Amino acid sequence: MLHPNPKGAAVQKIDPLTDFSEITATAAISSARHGWRAKCLQRLVRIDLPVPRTVALPAATVRAIAAGQPVDCAAILRHFGPDPLISVRPSPENPDWGGPATILNIGFNAARHDRLAQTHGQAAADALYLRFVQGYALHVARLDPDMFEGLEPSAEALRRALQAYATEMEEPFPEDPARQLSDVLRSMARAWEGTTARLLRQAKGAPEAAGLGLVVQEMAQGIGAGLSGSGVIQFVDPASGVPQVTGRYLGQSQGRDALRQPEAIYLTRDPRGASLQDLAPEIYADLLRFGATCRKNLREEMQVEFTIEDGHMSVLDAVKVVRSARAGLRIAVALAEDGVISRNDAVLRVEPRALSELLHPQVDPRGARDVFAKGIGASPGAATGKIVFTSAAAQASASRGEPCILVRRETAPEDIRGMHSAAGVLTERGGMTSHAAVIGRGLGLPCIVGASDLRLDAREKTLIAADGRCLREGDLITVDGTTGEALVGAATMLPPALDDSFRKLLSWADAVRDIGIRANADTPADAQTARNFEAQGIGLCRTEHMFFDEDRLVVMREMIFADTAQDRAAALARLLPMQRADFVQLFDIMQGLPVCIRLFDPPLHEFLPHSREGLRELAEALDKPLSDVTRRAEALAEFNPMLGMRGVRLGIVLPEIYAMQAQAIFEATVEIAHRGSAPVVPEIMIPLVSAKREVELVKSNIDAVAASVRAKSGVTFDFRLGVMVETPRAALRAGEIAQHAAFLSFGTNDLTQMTYGLSRDDAGRFMNTYVQQGVFAEDPFHSLDVDGVGELLLIGAERGRATRADLTLSICGEHGGNPESIDFCRRAGFDYVSCSPYRVPQARLAAAHLALTDPIG
Ligand code: PEP
Ligand code: MG
Repeated sequence: MLHPNPKGAAVQKIDPLTDFSEITATAAISSARHGWRAKCLQRLVRIDLPVPRTVALPAATVRAIAAGQPVDCAAILRHFGPDPLISVRPSPENPDWGGPATILNIGFNAARHDRLAQTHGQAAADALYLRFVQGYALHVARLDPDMFEGLEPSAEALRRALQAYATEMEEPFPEDPARQLSDVLRSMARAWEGTTARLLRQAKGAPEAAGLGLVVQEMAQGIGAGLSGSGVIQFVDPASGVPQVTGRYLGQSQGRDALRQPEAIYLTRDPRGASLQDLAPEIYADLLRFGATCRKNLREEMQVEFTIEDGHMSVLDAVKVVRSARAGLRIAVALAEDGVISRNDAVLRVEPRALSELLHPQVDPRGARDVFAKGIGASPGAATGKIVFTSAAAQASASRGEPCILVRRETAPEDIRGMHSAAGVLTERGGMTSHAAVIGRGLGLPCIVGASDLRLDAREKTLIAADGRCLREGDLITVDGTTGEALVGAATMLPPALDDSFRKLLSWADAVRDIGIRANADTPADAQTARNFEAQGIGLCRTEHMFFDEDRLVVMREMIFADTAQDRAAALARLLPMQRADFVQLFDIMQGLPVCIRLFDPPLHEFLPHSREGLRELAEALDKPLSDVTRRAEALAEFNPMLGMRGVRLGIVLPEIYAMQAQAIFEATVEIAHRGSAPVVPEIMIPLVSAKREVELVKSNIDAVAASVRAKSGVTFDFRLGVMVETPRAALRAGEIAQHAAFLSFGTNDLTQMTYGLSRDDAGRFMNTYVQQGVFAEDPFHSLDVDGVGELLLIGAERGRATRADLTLSICGEHGGNPESIDFCRRAGFDYVSCSPYRVPQARLAAAHLALTDPIG
């Protein structure tokens, strides 16, 4: 009934109840049934690697074991021949889903101990037995680890361990190998069902019903006469992905001991000490060969666990090298360049979310660092922002466009929206697998956890550092999620490093995606980032952000307070060259790529001071009585400013503002033409439109300005005028609006606000409750409401295109970078999505994934 040679042997059922199979080259092993490890071992068998005999238990069997069904362990053991020594390893469907610890040396007992003492010496026999008893006590009997801590291998330690086991369990240590195996299988099966294991794997995307396969393998002992030992080898650097042999070997050892013990030696010849290459050059050469074969046939960079017994090598296991995001990308590109996988496979191997880790700035190590707390760097990259203590405050801060750092004792699932809104996270408690750490890494959000020397008082809204310094809500701090240090103030940052592999992978992604990706960029710095990330243009430039600089704010306020049209014109004339310079810079950076400039949008009172002190200063600056200034500011105040005098309404009531902006845009276009740079066809976008007539009025204003600039400069230039669809009415009336618009861009932030009648600034207060109670499946400001807002998008797109077949369609709200919105837009036939510059690479890759996995038509 045994197979002397596993390779090519037929599948054999050991127990009709449980159906487990020996892993042979032809056995029906699948990762869905038996897990990835079983499948991987089968691949190793197929490429002729010396894998010891192994049996795979499918997930269904393991589930039955967890439910208490007895398993015929004697039958499994018989499969390995008389008196075997075996190991059991977890084999979930996806290696990222974790699993219980491997148990080695099952089958060890007093009789084997005596025999081994004869053949391998007392010390080796004691050490192995002790190790098994300890592992068994901890992982199978689940006894307190303290009872076995600090036991150095010796006959006395072994005696004490056996005694401790017997006392605690009220029975002697089990001698019967079948009983041992049965206990091991049951404890591993049950560990998988535990709440912590379930939560951890679900955080990694495992489905509710994810099962666990197990593999039972004949041990290669790694101890004894001749060259004996074990080691782990990998062929790339896990941090950078650069080809390089790393790992360790330790004589007279088992499993992954070599990675834990300081006396382990190098694999490759090394000036720092002994190496396996020196000790056993043929074995080292075999390992290199195995590595290359694995890479080619398993189409992956693997870490190989090997054991040498009296000069003979066995390969026990191979796992995907655990790698940083940077290494993952580099490895995928290298595999494609070597023809091991296709470019499309390489694209699909890199999770879009993983890119964000590569895109974050890092704290410049040469800059000053005012450290006020130290914790665990749980999610790399650095971010600066104002301290907030609640998720609601983080959401409010994000809606004001102010980066913030969410500081919590620890985070919980209801903080997820706050984390989405924050630039970084700092928690007083928690470790690498705490909620904040797991979610932070998932979101690519710089995160420090376990900064336990901080004292946080959420009620007082203060943070006391170990040195006594007190920080308050609103204070600026920097979290360095790479080093785990929290710094006071805004640290000097280094831009993210985008290497060749990054660019190559994204160029492959670009080759397959079926929707354009632009960036929302308001400043030259944003535009430069957009260029670096190879956005196909600017989809939204919010021009009002250009007026918040101190010197411009003064002129802006003069314009707002002008008593006469003449005074207003004078203030605008001073703003004109500043705006022109802004646009010249943007056009210059974008080198002929489309730039979509949105005309002035916010209510004017946003530019006025709100405090009495500020009003007094303004009165002085404008040389007007304080009462005048106050009265004017009050007159501009609105009950509902987001539904008031803003967007195109300002453009109609005060047409001089849009005229100035149009003039600046056209003069910048002319300047670029004079320079002989790539010609620019500016796109001008009108915000908050709800009626066709609004567009007509603004269009005639802008056409007149264009005609005048053309006449004055003698340069002919084109431009495109479009409409931002942010009100439900604009979507419904898109058919007639498109008569005057070359493009429609859906501003889904305002459109969501207006469709729900839900304030984007205040919704954070009750959004958690709404989502928890299932009123909304998700926060619609974060994840596009495809049913409601989405329907308006479809209506607008269809009606607009019915009027004008070549109408350009896009989305530019915060939803633009989400993979679900990208999918929605490409299905609706949109031309592009526009998102914040840092999300551009992620959006490019996500769009490629969609095109590859879910092609349209
Ligand atoms: C929008 O409303 O979706 C938009 C992009 O504009 P803003 O966020 O500036 O209102
Ligand atoms: Mg808007």
